[in-house]
Amino acid sequence: RAERAAARPSRGLYALNARAVAEPETFEYQAEVHRLMDLIVNSLYSNKDVFLRELVSNASDACDKLRFVSLSDSSAMQAGEELRIKIRGDPESKTLTIEDSGIGMSRDDLVSSLGTIARSGTAKFMEMLKSQSDGENLIGKFGVGFYSAFLVADKITVFTKAATGDDKTWMWESEINSSSYTVKEADEAMSRGTKIVLHLKEGCEEFASGDKLQSLVKTYSEFISFPIDVWAQKN
Ligand code: ADP
Ligand code: MG
Repeated sequence: RAERAAARPSRGLYALNARAVAEPETFEYQAEVHRLMDLIVNSLYSNKDVFLRELVSNASDACDKLRFVSLSDSSAMQAGEELRIKIRGDPESKTLTIEDSGIGMSRDDLVSSLGTIARSGTAKFMEMLKSQSDGENLIGKFGVGFYSAFLVADKITVFTKAATGDDKTWMWESEINSSSYTVKEADEAMSRGTKIVLHLKEGCEEFASGDKLQSLVKTYSEFISFPIDVWAQKN
């Protein structure tokens, strides 16, 4: 797709050197993503909770995909291995981490998935936005996928390692008002899967607290078929 091809390093020479010295490569978001993020940032949307539903469903999708791939490629996961989703809130560092042992992303997956709008639901959402000004209502109705994390986070860091193909651990990072994101090889290798760290906005600290997370997970994970562990301090 043309839109996907548009996601290329904005600093060519720098990017060429990047791999060897693990300097971050910078990529511009697809224009639609930028518009979507603007909307999320500027919205006073009252039901911020929905971000967790989106991230947990992505984690669950990733576990499903891994299971599927492992049917034809037994090296993708260990026999009998249990796939899990972990949610960890840390009030001290004001972070919330959602981790899964699913299929993970290669470097190219990262750039094509977290920089463009791939999902049909979100494309439809953007289409409706053109004819309707009520973006807030639409967020709740459609869900806006991964980017909904910017409802509660002003910075997102993603660590990921693919089940097959790319054996490096990659780190994707973006700040809320930025028109770009960076990708680099992570300083520390991790095992297969994806770990998403949300640096919570001021005023959104409650999403690092145990009680809040427990109740959200109860609400949003009813139909998730993988075990979800919630770790956080009681408050
Ligand atoms: P959708 O889930 O509808 O495709 P999202 O915006 O929620 O849209 O996610 C975009 C894409 O990012 C996903 O399709 C997937 O390729 C990738 N992705 C997001 N989260 C994860 C994850 N935890 N593990 C692997 N891939 C992920
Ligand atoms: Mg999704």
